[in-house]
Amino acid sequence: MEMNKDYLHKYLVLDHQARVITVFSTNTVNKYCENIPTTPVSIAAMGRLISATLMMGSMLKGNEKVMVSIDGNGPIGVIRAEADSNGNVRAFATDPTVNVPLKDNKMLDVPAAVGTQGFLSVRKQLNMKEPFIGTCELVSGEIGEDLSYYFGTSEQTPTIVALGVLANPDGTCLQAGGFIIQLLPNAKAEAYEYLEKMLANLTSVSKLIENAKSSDQLVYQLFDDADLILQYPVDYKCNCSFEKTKALLTQLSDEELNEEINSEKGLDITCNFCQQVYHFNSEQLKEVLHLKHSKEYKVK
Ligand code: ZN
Repeated sequence: MEMNKDYLHKYLVLDHQARVITVFSTNTVNKYCENIPTTPVSIAAMGRLISATLMMGSMLKGNEKVMVSIDGNGPIGVIRAEADSNGNVRAFATDPTVNVPLKDNKMLDVPAAVGTQGFLSVRKQLNMKEPFIGTCELVSGEIGEDLSYYFGTSEQTPTIVALGVLANPDGTCLQAGGFIIQLLPNAKAEAYEYLEKMLANLTSVSKLIENAKSSDQLVYQLFDDADLILQYPVDYKCNCSFEKTKALLTQLSDEELNEEINSEKGLDITCNFCQQVYHFNSEQLKEVLHLKHSKEYKVK
């Protein structure tokens, strides 16, 4: 494994009828932070969401995609991350510059930024099928707990989602990662009991990750025995393009498009996920208008 590269690992724990996924995602989260102004609390929130979504991406196959959105009515606004099964993730927050006071224990107050009154939704783009959409109410706004609840209710799969992110005051990420423990289908009562006991004893996820020099060490802090079944690198990567942005512009009204066509200076569209700017001149905007009214496009 290369240094400065993030990795995801999957294990089978046959003794306890569970699967475990781990991710170390510090570099990935730092790539998210690179092009936008951030605060420690927004890094903590986004780092948790990015880590969790990467692990959820590992539950997919081929070109399938998963998108996790949280709207907790907090000052950060909506936060969203998208990942695929190949370790690519991208994310955005409505207001990554959000700042809230620390908790009484001097920890970053993620729920105060994310909010606790709202919903978490998961959208999975599955191969050749209608997208799967699952939604649940937020439990705490801590993200890990909310996702654990989501798996238990929406997907009927007993799951622990544990996430730990530490941020530097200068707007970078010091450490990010997490793990998911999920019971296998038809797991026996003992497996449920073991999982519950583990959840009750789980204190600081950040400490667990900090103490582990490797994914294996992290897993062996949780289980006596586990079999590694898969590992691959993960990274922050946006899949936006000029053509995709052009397709999005067809959602503007004719009036709006004509206004931009006549403005001569063209239109700049910035990608929410990677801050790439796509410039459209009058000619290209006329193409958008043409595309919008073409027969083929309407069929879609
Ligand atoms: Zn982009």
